[in-house]
Amino acid sequence: MEFNTRLLHGRAVRKYADGATLPQISQVSAFQYDSAREQDEVFHHKAAGFAYSRVANPTVAAFEQRINEMEGGNAAIACSSGMSAVTLSLLNMLCAGDEIIAGGGLYGGTIDLLEDLTKFDIVTRYVAHMTPEEIEPCINERTRVIYGEVISNPSLEIMDVRAVADFAHAHGLVLIVDSTTATPYLVHPISLGADVVVHSTTKYINGSGNSIGGVIIDSARFPWDFDRYRALDGYRSFGKLAYTVRLRTDIWENMGGCMAPMSAFLNVIGLETLGLRMKQICRNAEELASALAEIPDIIVNHPSLPDSPGHDLAGKQFKGKGGGILTIRVGSRERAYAVIDHLRYAVRATSLGDTRTLVIHPASTLYIRSTEQQKQIAGVFEDTIRISVGIEDAVDLIEDFTDAIQSTK
Ligand SMILES: *Cc1c(COP(=O)(O)O)cnc(C)c1O
Repeated sequence: MEFNTRLLHGRAVRKYADGATLPQISQVSAFQYDSAREQDEVFHHKAAGFAYSRVANPTVAAFEQRINEMEGGNAAIACSSGMSAVTLSLLNMLCAGDEIIAGGGLYGGTIDLLEDLTKFDIVTRYVAHMTPEEIEPCINERTRVIYGEVISNPSLEIMDVRAVADFAHAHGLVLIVDSTTATPYLVHPISLGADVVVHSTTKYINGSGNSIGGVIIDSARFPWDFDRYRALDGYRSFGKLAYTVRLRTDIWENMGGCMAPMSAFLNVIGLETLGLRMKQICRNAEELASALAEIPDIIVNHPSLPDSPGHDLAGKQFKGKGGGILTIRVGSRERAYAVIDHLRYAVRATSLGDTRTLVIHPASTLYIRSTEQQKQIAGVFEDTIRISVGIEDAVDLIEDFTDAIQSTK
């Protein structure tokens, strides 16, 4: 089955109750049983069933199964937000005293989170580029995980997932990747060796900008050394399933980061059109980037352009597609504001991966808590505009941006 067919007819797509073509929205907190014994068995995971929607819910399970299949994982766990997914993916396997090595060009919220974790004595060492050469000197006996984004934004660098995964495994380390900006349409990080994948489903997976959510997908392939990964020590008997089991029955359940049933339903609908949307979005982004690259006094970055840092890896890893985000640098903050204000179709809003084209000035919004050095590494300059390309017709987007740039010299 090809990508779009699998979204609609994959093995995770069920005939739902009453023959419904989509899962029902099980908008309930609790589930009732005929006997105390039955309830006992459900609580002890001895019988199939649902007890309480923070712990498991049929609509959420339907979404988890579908995204798990699309990523080629062993299990997926849906979370209340992308940040919840990032947080829990790390806390599930870390103890005080452990260290993370992370790529420099991370999502601003993730940088803030890693700073928060220092209060729990979990320290992060940053590399400017996610390459084995830069990561190697940061490894010490406390290192437990390598964490990075498949396509960093707005710097638009691309991680060579196979190279980093092979390197991590050679050092007995886990690789967690945030694949929000790449989506399973561009790459399946697990097939390239990543151990755990996280997404903010708020973005391309939901696709219409109608609910906040996140998901963690475990490959269940990492051979946990339980003496080193002390956080998983109580789960030895589960072997390679230890990460999923602890997440599901402890950290995720106890921290209360569950996805709402309504959000899961909206994400199922969104996921079904991921391939269609990404096809149009990637083509639009490429056409817009190449048209804007003709304008002399601005700098355009999109992996489809030969001088973009992500160009070669997009060719190798994404079959030439460059994703839906591009950036332009227009010379000054004043001109960036003027360009943004001039746009007719592109919407001035945070977030990305919407059907609509969205624009933002990252330096004055997403990165206000970052240091100059963090901004430099993230590719955030005073004159940078980030564009999350939508599914409009490319000709209109090209006209809108060209007009805005040319009338604000
Ligand atoms: C948006 C985003 C997040 C956080 O997701 P929320 O759903 O906003 O909590 C994490 N990582 C990346 C790459 C993102 O774009």
